[in-house]
Order: sequence, then C-alpha cells, then structure tokens
Amino acid sequence: MNQELQILFPKSISVTIKREDLLHPVVSGNKFRKLKYNLLQAKAENKETLLTFGGAFSNHIAAVAYAAQEQGFRSVGVVRGDELNEKTDSNPTLQFAKECGMQFEFVSREAYRHKTEAVFLEELKAKFGDFYLVPEGGTNALAIKGCQEILTEEDAKFDYICCAVGTGGTISGIINSALSHQKVLGFPALKGNFLQDEIRIFAENDNWELINDYHFGGYAKINEELVRFINQFYKDTKIPLDPVYTGKMVFGVLDLIQKDFFPAHSNILLIHTGGLQGIFGMNERLKNKQLPTITIDV
Ligand SMILES: *Cc1c(COP(=O)(O)O)cnc(C)c1O
Repeated sequence: MNQELQILFPKSISVTIKREDLLHPVVSGNKFRKLKYNLLQAKAENKETLLTFGGAFSNHIAAVAYAAQEQGFRSVGVVRGDELNEKTDSNPTLQFAKECGMQFEFVSREAYRHKTEAVFLEELKAKFGDFYLVPEGGTNALAIKGCQEILTEEDAKFDYICCAVGTGGTISGIINSALSHQKVLGFPALKGNFLQDEIRIFAENDNWELINDYHFGGYAKINEELVRFINQFYKDTKIPLDPVYTGKMVFGVLDLIQKDFFPAHSNILLIHTGGLQGIFGMNERLKNKQLPTITIDV
C-alpha cells in the first residue's frame, strides 16, 4: 500500500511511503519477502527445520521464528552472544521467537564468526538434525527474487526509490525491478564500505547509489536526535518508524530534501521495510541510558 505524506516539501517535491510494515503487525516488511521463496524451496526439499543466524535483537530471527511456526517448520536460531543464554526472558525479540517455538543455540562472538564453515554446520546437524539453512539476514538469490516483488506497476511514476540497507538483499531486488528512468538510493544502517560489493553480486543494473551519511555511528546505534525525529514523524503522520533501519533512512531523505539534493518536482518513494519489533528492545536500552524513548504504540 502506498501512502503519500501530507507534508509540504520545497520545490514541489512529493514523498510517498510504501507500507511494507503493514504485512504483519510485529514481524514485518522485507523479511517476509526474503523468506517467501526460501520457504517454498525448503518444502520442495522436504526439510522439516529452518536454521538461521542473528543477533539478539534481529528482525530476521523474529521473522524466521514466526514464518516457521506459521508454515509448520521447526526453527533453530543460532544467536550471537553466549551470555544471552539465561536472559531470553528479558529480551523482547528472543522472547517472541521463543513463543513461536524457536530453539536457540547461543554461541560466543568468536564462534559466531565461523558460523558458515562446514565443521560448525556439521556440529549443528549432529545436534538439531537436518535443516534448511537460511543465511544471516536472509540474503540469498531466492531472497532477491522475493524482493523483486516489492515494486509494482503503479510505482512507475516515481523518480527516486529510497530504502534502508543491512546486508543489501532488499535493495538488490528493488534495483532489479526498478525501471530505467528510476534511481534507487540505499541508506546503509551500518558503517563500512563492503556493501557496494555485496550489492553488485545480485544487482543487475547500475541505476543506484549508496548514501553513507545517515548510519548514526553504526548498526543499532542511536542518539537523542533520532529518537526525537521518530517520535515527531509519528505525531505528524501516524506512521511508525523503527530505530535501526527505517528511522535512519527517512531522516536521511528528509534531510537531503532540505539540502537541495533532489531536483524540483521529484517524485520520491520510500520503502518502509518494517522492523517495528525492534522498538521494544531499543526502548529497554534507551531507558537504561536514561535517554528519551520511542513513544509509538505498535
Ligand atoms: C533487515 C532489514 C533491512 C535491511 O535489509 P537487507 O536486505 O539486509 O539489506 C531493512 N529494514 C528492515 C526493517 C529490516 O528488518
């Protein structure tokens, strides 16, 4: 569903947001797109278990747990950080995944780095039985295929398509389905210049650019300015943004409009990839630091 923002922008620029967050109240957006063809493949291979990797607040872990339960798979989450073992009850993401029936394997940060090596995967098979492996963040060729379905015919009228970037899978799908007159802008939620190369693996066109100025210090890093922006945006539009991905991307686009980045009359589409379940965990962290919290009811 596309929703035009009722905000007056300079130079007759218009901004519309694609509400992929509405696919599900909590586990939303691009993670379902990325899982769609992987779930079909797992069924075709007669797998009974999905196994994947992620951090303690990962939208991907939550999405796999939920999708597995819905589609009748068992699920295993290999989670970074062995200190979390006794703390699942105080972590909203892991609590949600657990309620969906996910089993966890907590591993040290050191072991997590070797998660894709054959020895480690064999150990996991010995422990949990055979499984369909969904990569960290869910990005593989089948995920890109799912993300190519985000844009539809009605989106041909937009000049710019903007989306948040984590592993680069979502933007790759969007790049592949964007039309030649459209430019795709990616807003990385983390620091580092490796994403350019990751995206080139899957992207079939050159009509894209990464804007690296709005990661707010790195993955899941946040400051008071961003919290206030998310809260104000919600007040103005009733659209909830998440603190890890979409909040940073929308902040970036609105800032670039003020800085004259876009030509007059640009028609901009923002992809709301979801991620709202991350608000709960982030608010715990903000409270601990005695910073203002995100005041959105999701
Ligand atoms: C995972 C995620 C992204 C990033 O998607 P990638 O395909 O990893 O680049 C963006 N937004 C939200 C809400 C996400 O959960």
